[in-house]
Amino acid sequence: MVCLVADVSGRRWTISWNLSAGVFHALSAVPRATWHAADGASVMPEIAIVGAGFIGLASAAALMRDGHRVVLFDPSGVGQGASFGNAGTFAHYACIPVNNPSVFRDLPRFLLSNQSPFRLRWGYLPQLAPWLTRFLISSLPRRYEASAAALAALLGRAQDGYAPLLAQPELARFVRPRECLYLYSNAASFDAAQAALGLRSKLGVAFDVLAGNDIRALEPSLAPIFERGVLFKDSWHFSDPQGFLQALYERLAAQGLKLERSSVSAVQPSADGATLTVDGVARRFSHAVIATGARSAQFARQCGDAVPLDTERGYHVRYPGAQQLISRPVGWAERGFYMTPMSDGLRVAGTVELGGFNETRNRALLDLLTFASKRALPTLATPDNHWLGFRPSLPDGVPVLGRSSAGARVIYAFGHQHLGLTLAGISGRIVADLVAGRAPPLELAPYAATRF
Ligand SMILES: Cc1cc2nc3c(=O)[nH]c(=O)nc-3n(C[C@H](O)[C@H](O)[C@H](O)COP(=O)(O)OP(=O)(O)OC[C@H]3O[C@@H](n4cnc5c(N)ncnc54)[C@H](O)[C@@H]3O)c2cc1C
Repeated sequence: MVCLVADVSGRRWTISWNLSAGVFHALSAVPRATWHAADGASVMPEIAIVGAGFIGLASAAALMRDGHRVVLFDPSGVGQGASFGNAGTFAHYACIPVNNPSVFRDLPRFLLSNQSPFRLRWGYLPQLAPWLTRFLISSLPRRYEASAAALAALLGRAQDGYAPLLAQPELARFVRPRECLYLYSNAASFDAAQAALGLRSKLGVAFDVLAGNDIRALEPSLAPIFERGVLFKDSWHFSDPQGFLQALYERLAAQGLKLERSSVSAVQPSADGATLTVDGVARRFSHAVIATGARSAQFARQCGDAVPLDTERGYHVRYPGAQQLISRPVGWAERGFYMTPMSDGLRVAGTVELGGFNETRNRALLDLLTFASKRALPTLATPDNHWLGFRPSLPDGVPVLGRSSAGARVIYAFGHQHLGLTLAGISGRIVADLVAGRAPPLELAPYAATRF
């Protein structure tokens, strides 16, 4: 990265050129008063990012492309949280949120059936009730269409958001450019999905519809139980999501990114920055980015915003050595999971459990993933490992991206539900635009924390 810095009209202008990516940036809007001197020389003020998952790291990358100094805080280190065990799919086609009108038809069956990939921990219902009420309201046709449009607007820019990251060979090596196949085991489910597929088309998602024979020609190891399928154009997946984040971290660390394995307990915005409480010590930064996934509501509250964030728990099981059975991510619509070939085996990831942050794993859902994946791929043996992750979910299925109400220098980037990997690049770019005072690539009103 080559940077030219000049003070003009009371502002510091930075022009940076990323030589390897050939990306050219012109940056500004940082008043000189916010800079401070160290050993007599001007230095960039530090920006704190809380959370080192997909969103925190992509934000760090975008801010550092602008020449900022960045400190990441995360007690768990890099790429843990929900970012660790997801299905790895770049799902730019997934603009249909879980809150959609089919909920009213399917929810009773989902909640009562032991075959359902959608579960509720009944003991959590009293705490969940306000979220669930908003979720149901957000599933009404007009509301859901607004959520789908907001997601589609971000998803349509998701690939551009990744471009500066994937221009680096050491990061691009984690990308597998095989389009995702989404399957239906009976015609009735495929028919029921027509309205959602129609809305996807309307919102610009490109796909081919496949018959059973086409599916078997693409993926011969699959059992012949799938009647219809959809192949989403230009999608891809990561062979190792956490490995990608570790490689990104190492690249950024070599350029000066600092990681502190500490928990942040408070964020206090002010007119010229933000004060973070880290291990009981108050520390000042020029800006703070809240990227703590499902744990972000407490910080939003401290910064003046009541955000109804909860979690959709999800699981994965891993079959070591079985990644050769399929060549691409394969989703099973009725069963609510993906099977993704990864570098360390076949990962079967998905399901939704509404049950808060309890660490206890739902054996029935893990068994369901195992049973159903073996139905789809009969030669699978036994999983050697399982994982539980906490998706950060707002009841309308749309993330929060924007400034806090109590201070413009606290930036929110959380609530990416099933799409945090996919939306990481564009979210990081939006964070950097807000810090720089540039216009973001799209109108941010639908993503505001104040929309609730
Ligand atoms: C089963 C499953 C499958 C999925 N599949 C996909 C997929 O195929 N494609 C896709 O796009 N998305 C997928 N997702 C969703 C995706 O994983 C999430 O949206 C994404 O990981 C969220 O990233 P994040 O950085 O916001 O949060 P996280 O990855 O959860 O990171 C938040 C970080 O904040 C840290 N933190 C929390 N509190 C504090 C604190 N007080 N101080 C400091 N740090 C703190 C945590 O330690 C954590 O590391 C899936 C999720 C699940 C569960």
